[in-house]
Amino acid sequence: MANSDEARRVRIKEMLIANVRHGARIPTVDDRQSWPPNPPHPLHDTKSAALPQKVDYAIIGSGIAGCSVAWNLLTESELKHTIAVFEARGLASGATGRSGGQVAALMTANEFADTIASRNILAADALNRFAGESYNRLVELVRNDPSATDYHFAPVKSVTNLVDPADVASVNQYAENFAKACAQWSYPGDLRTPDDSRSYYQFINSHGTTEQPGLVLLPYRLVTRLFERLLQKYPAQLSIDTHTPVQQVGYNSRLTSHKYTLMTSRGEVRANHVIHCTNGWTSCLLPHLAERIFPWRTTMAYHEFDYDPETSPGRVGRPQYIWQEVSRPRHDYIHNSVEMGKHSVTELGLTNQTLFKRVLVRSDNLDYQALMDHDDTRTPPGAGHHVSRVLRRVFTPWRFAGVEQPPQIWSGVCGYTADAKPICGQLSKKWTSRTGKGEWICAGCNGMGLATTWTLGELLAHRLLGRKEEFIVLPWSYSSDDGRLEMMNVNSFFEEWLPRV
Ligand SMILES: Cc1cc2nc3c(=O)[nH]c(=O)nc-3n(C[C@H](O)[C@H](O)[C@H](O)COP(=O)(O)OP(=O)(O)OC[C@H]3O[C@@H](n4cnc5c(N)ncnc54)[C@H](O)[C@@H]3O)c2cc1C
Repeated sequence: MANSDEARRVRIKEMLIANVRHGARIPTVDDRQSWPPNPPHPLHDTKSAALPQKVDYAIIGSGIAGCSVAWNLLTESELKHTIAVFEARGLASGATGRSGGQVAALMTANEFADTIASRNILAADALNRFAGESYNRLVELVRNDPSATDYHFAPVKSVTNLVDPADVASVNQYAENFAKACAQWSYPGDLRTPDDSRSYYQFINSHGTTEQPGLVLLPYRLVTRLFERLLQKYPAQLSIDTHTPVQQVGYNSRLTSHKYTLMTSRGEVRANHVIHCTNGWTSCLLPHLAERIFPWRTTMAYHEFDYDPETSPGRVGRPQYIWQEVSRPRHDYIHNSVEMGKHSVTELGLTNQTLFKRVLVRSDNLDYQALMDHDDTRTPPGAGHHVSRVLRRVFTPWRFAGVEQPPQIWSGVCGYTADAKPICGQLSKKWTSRTGKGEWICAGCNGMGLATTWTLGELLAHRLLGRKEEFIVLPWSYSSDDGRLEMMNVNSFFEEWLPRV
């Protein structure tokens, strides 16, 4: 029995690795029914009358990474650089347009503990510092924008319910370090006992909860609004071409400038620099990175239900929350499926004065093939029932309006990396197979990291502008350093993710 389970596990692992090696295809279908920007932004289908012939910077991808690079290149320099943004589908229609909008101020206590266990305290501190700085920069960006309320922007409390006793043990082990790391930011990072978290938050299955400040920030609105502001302010410098997939990148060293050629569905454009902000689809243009960054699907739903102030977690007058429940993934090698073990709920607030709660819920129970399917126009079968079941189980005291199926459900493709960290910086010939030094990447936040992605885009823009001083040190484990990329190993990634039976 054990042998056949192990054989199944190995088969699944090989199938997943083969999928990764196969690489992603360029996203083409823009089925707006499958995701909910309602109404879509007026720039959703924007195109320039004619593609620019030559630009200084060509940015591929219009999610939060591409937006941050464009924003910072334009707003941080007095020089009149030209920038072209290419998007295969509608504006911000990748992960950014489908996101659950949860932003935590720092790493969660369990992520911090995991990093110490797998690396060391210095690495955990560096990543926590990066998270804290990123959070502050994003808050500042949004607070300085008078139209910020359009973004569904709200400071909230971020609560993580720990279901595995092992997680609580490791959090406790490093609690003192975590408290110190949070104190540097004046953020309280609290750990509640199981009794407390059951009575206060009414989690049924809890071994403790961690708390810290956070944000609700729906990035589709942020990104589309920022692109709109850029186009208004820099009409002669910026072009944005949606429904214009880049199909290939070429390089000609004999040219004196603009040595890169981007072949798109609407013609060719030459550029001095190419910035890959293509996240889960990165390997379609950079096949040598296929084993380092790959598509990973996740599901999101919009749900509504009755809200009972007497029984609701935290009760009347409580702040708005974002919730996570974290446990290890539960694999079923016989039925070929996995329950991801991470559920998140973003409270969008009450509707008008009625006690009717609106939330975004992210949770996955899907077969392994669907996990790596980078067609985000399809939602895995049974996903709606799964989301409803999770909400009932985790938040029993919340009264659901008897809706089995959430009113809206959609799918999204994240960029996962073989060491679970993003990749930011210049790419060498090893990964581009071109001799030029003008290719860059900002991608791979592994299904989280909205604030981190913004800051990585900002750092990249500073490097592209030749700034010597950096406002924050880029952790090596986020860099595009050849040594780091070489060390990434997709076999180890799946070996760890798929435990032996
Ligand atoms: C359902 C879902 C829920 C999430 N919830 C959260 C959350 O609550 N909190 C959080 O922090 N993070 C969350 N994330 C993750 C977060 O949304 C992503 O980390 C972030 O949006 C990534 O931004 P990006 O710009 O790197 O990638 P994307 O937004 O995916 O942008 C990449 C873009 O590149 C385009 N593209 C690809 N190839 C080409 C090509 N060849 N030519 C032209 N264009 C191309 C794609 O169409 C796409 O628009 C979630 C992700 C998903 C999918």
